[in-house]
Amino acid sequence: MSTSIKDKLHQVEARIEQACLRSGRKREEVEIIAVTKYVPTTRAEEALEEGLRNLGENRWQDAQEKWKAIEGNEAFGGDKAPIWHFIGSLQTNKVKDVIGKFTYIHSLDRLSLAEAIDKRAGQLGIKVPCFIQVNVSGELSKHGLDSEGLFSFVEELKRFPSIEPIGLMTMAPFEAEPEQTRPVFRALRELRDKLQAIDPDTTISQLSMGMSNDFEVAIEEGATWIRLGTILVGKEED
Ligand SMILES: *Cc1c(COP(=O)(O)O)cnc(C)c1O
Repeated sequence: MSTSIKDKLHQVEARIEQACLRSGRKREEVEIIAVTKYVPTTRAEEALEEGLRNLGENRWQDAQEKWKAIEGNEAFGGDKAPIWHFIGSLQTNKVKDVIGKFTYIHSLDRLSLAEAIDKRAGQLGIKVPCFIQVNVSGELSKHGLDSEGLFSFVEELKRFPSIEPIGLMTMAPFEAEPEQTRPVFRALRELRDKLQAIDPDTTISQLSMGMSNDFEVAIEEGATWIRLGTILVGKEED
């Protein structure tokens, strides 16, 4: 039997609070996304029962069963309804499935994707809050714009009325010593600050960064959304 989410959440909360304390931040500045990609529907429902509202998935093929089951479950309607975050790389041909079901997109990283999202959102009459994914570390295996490409990309996004760029997202390389991820998170925050300095009216203010291994460092560097899978909801084999 795996550890209950209640127990895991209790431990994670204590660590979040400590990280906020160390960096002079308020606990309310940091939102948790429970990443349910490794676990079955029942475990995602357990997360919702514990009061976690934000659920993250990274592939539509894997998420759709969970999405349909939970959306069809009246126990999770009204103010208990989940807010879905699409955190994985999004293929253009999956946009029609994802937009309208997932509220937030964390992986906007190219104009062709912006175009597809904007078109679909326009058809649905909605505006989609998006994080622009930046590959700060320059790892070849990671998606995202490079830091130099970000500024012109932000300018180009102004052409798309149904996209609301609300922040930046990054993934740090896995490090045995989490402290090593600090420069990546700091660099993302500095990019955000630079965008705000260039355009004081920018809607880009939030930072989606930090996972199970490195969320405390990310919080110390200004994360406003942390994406927690393993440490919070576990992996299926736990
Ligand atoms: C899987 C995933 C996470 C969560 O990973 P854990 O290390 O299990 O917390 C966070 N962000 C993205 C983009 C992911 O794909």
